[in-house]
Amino acid sequence: MNANLFAALQGAFPADLDATAIECADAGAQGQALIYSWRDLDRSSAMLANLLLSLDLAPGSRIAAQTDKSVEALMLYLAVLRAGYVYLPLNPAYQAAELEYFIRDAEPAVLVCAGSNFGWASKLAFLAGTTYVFTLNEDRSGSLLERAACMSDTHRIAERSADDLAAILYTSGTTGRSKGAMLSHANLLSNARTLKDLWGWRADDVLIHALPIFHVHGLFVASHGALLAGAKMIWFAKFEARAVIGRFAEATVFMGVPTLYVRMLGEPALTPAACASMRLFISGSAPLLLDTFVDWQRRSGHTILERYGMSETLMLTSNPYRVLDGDRVGGTVGPALPGVAVRVHDEAGRACAPGEIGAIEVRGPNVFSGYWRMPEKTQEEFTADGWFKTGDVGLCDANGYFAIVGRSKDLIISGGFNVYPAEIEGFLNELDGVAESAVIGVPHADFGEAVVAVLVAKPGQSLDGAALISTLKRQIAGFKVPKQVFVVNELPRNAMGKVQKKLLREQHGGLFS
Ligand code: AMP
Repeated sequence: MNANLFAALQGAFPADLDATAIECADAGAQGQALIYSWRDLDRSSAMLANLLLSLDLAPGSRIAAQTDKSVEALMLYLAVLRAGYVYLPLNPAYQAAELEYFIRDAEPAVLVCAGSNFGWASKLAFLAGTTYVFTLNEDRSGSLLERAACMSDTHRIAERSADDLAAILYTSGTTGRSKGAMLSHANLLSNARTLKDLWGWRADDVLIHALPIFHVHGLFVASHGALLAGAKMIWFAKFEARAVIGRFAEATVFMGVPTLYVRMLGEPALTPAACASMRLFISGSAPLLLDTFVDWQRRSGHTILERYGMSETLMLTSNPYRVLDGDRVGGTVGPALPGVAVRVHDEAGRACAPGEIGAIEVRGPNVFSGYWRMPEKTQEEFTADGWFKTGDVGLCDANGYFAIVGRSKDLIISGGFNVYPAEIEGFLNELDGVAESAVIGVPHADFGEAVVAVLVAKPGQSLDGAALISTLKRQIAGFKVPKQVFVVNELPRNAMGKVQKKLLREQHGGLFS
């Protein structure tokens, strides 16, 4: 049997292929709503798949996409699956130095980028050995669709086995620079099927899709959920709190990172009446504050279901959907998903008792096979008995509910986006006059965590925080740029000479409160 994930998704398309699959919330050029039927999804992904096939790429070729969110970008993902290649989504906010790293590491055969970036992006891609660079713009213009327009709209789905690679998601794992987490067709499909059953996806559901599609949450959890149920999506290219609330009356499911919930709580239009047709609000990708959980209950009449997962493992735990399966408990991420094993171990590798804090380790059909071209790093991240070390610290209570209490990995999650301190410190240390730097995350009501940098100047030099911030803004994606910079005489260090970030976090913890 063909284990290609696309075959399963296509098999779930409704009998009526002319029904609406995706409605764009952002109006088209003439102000009318843009509607895509299931037939459109099938035909357009077939044309794009045929375009890829016409390029005569080597098996296993990576297709990198650094585009703004659009339905066509989703179709490109589906086309890569159905043609049997490997999809590599990249945050459109990345600038040249960031993109170059991913291109050199993943060596994609094809890059699809925004037309406005074609000059610099194609130059660095061609220099790194990429053979084709196409453009795809928010307004559906660009060479990708122009070339696909001449292709046949029928396509036979490529045969793939369960372990064949479907996608590579770049993530920093527990430390250091970004690594490509390799996800197979079976990883993605097993997780999508588990969530479909657990969250009660139905063909008459309507999902408000307002998340980016370069990340596990929007690309896999949200899109696969709706596609595998044959359910309609209302598609927001960008999240806009008031506009999203305005569409709740036509929808049943919403997925967001905590920041999106905080933004919506700021809107007077958020009322139980506005949410009356909704059946499920899901939060993940970063810790949901108990205050947000409680405020949302009061303001919307719904209890948010919080789940936990990561790029390397897809989803791992979820609070219950059905009342008979238990309560949704704020501050927890719920029990392990069916078929997924999650455990908490102490530093000596012993199982923690209920309530005891330790390292979270996982195993299951959803867990990735390893980091792209990094066998040693992959080996380090698995225990001797084959469990993946998540780098998250937490506990499991007597009822089997997990709670994440911290991270042993050096990671900041700001507005749902991951920021790796080591990467930002690398950029800061290159700036004129900077001797050394420490980047930390501090609590922020809107973003969850805000990026803050503490710097030491080179002897005899002075540093201007605002000027450094504007320089960084030209070098790295905006969400990674520190919101505030402090200049100090020296960084606090422990006896081993390691910077004590805990002390810095305590010192600056109240900055945004
Ligand atoms: P990513 O690979 O970008 O999805 O990031 C995964 C990391 O996000 C996890 O290892 C956690 O540190 C964090 N994370 C995801 N979901 C939650 C959650 N519900 N609560 C706390 N942290 C979370």
